[in-house]
Amino acid sequence: MRYDLIIFDCDGVLVDSEVISCQVHAEMLTAHGYPISAEDVHARFLGRSARAARDEVEAELGHPLPEAYGTEIRALMTRRFTELLQPVAAIHETLAALTLPMCVASSGTLERVQSSLRITALHDRFAPHIFSATQVRHGKPAPDLFLFAAAQMAVPAARCLVIEDSVPGITGARAAGMTVFGFHGGSHCRPDEAARLQQAGAEATFNDMRQLPGMIQ
Ligand SMILES: [Mg+2]
Repeated sequence: MRYDLIIFDCDGVLVDSEVISCQVHAEMLTAHGYPISAEDVHARFLGRSARAARDEVEAELGHPLPEAYGTEIRALMTRRFTELLQPVAAIHETLAALTLPMCVASSGTLERVQSSLRITALHDRFAPHIFSATQVRHGKPAPDLFLFAAAQMAVPAARCLVIEDSVPGITGARAAGMTVFGFHGGSHCRPDEAARLQQAGAEATFNDMRQLPGMIQ
């Protein structure tokens, strides 16, 4: 066995959140004078931190978004996730079939990740091994979060396998010296996704979670 730990991204890998999330961001930005489609939010901001995305938007707008923007978007996101969020197809049976230690490393806040995992009944499988970009200095595509997760789990980076659905996530995992598999089975994924993930450094790509146990052997 090549690995002692599997590090899962959350959004787009464990929970099928990206379509909902991109839609909420597009609605909120458009309402605040920055017209953008859910598709463009996906192309530009997927896998990056909310802070980095907001900085870029504010630089283009030439002024900051209102102070309440963060609170408003969090409230709308919570409402939509509570109503609509689903686990990624076959993730429960896949996790049950894996015997290696596992943890979560997400660009989301700890509160958001824990909430998403609770809504989809995945929380207890990972807790307390749930890590957030808010716990490190630099989020993805920097390697910091992956190195932090590996250190918390006491596993050397070279023995970690990362499952990611975004280019910044794959870039960060590779910069951490880890092997990455690119998952492109989320409902947000486009037909060219596998090629993009491979180009970013994914060793293998797959679009059905049930393939994962066999790929690890
Ligand atoms: Mg993701």
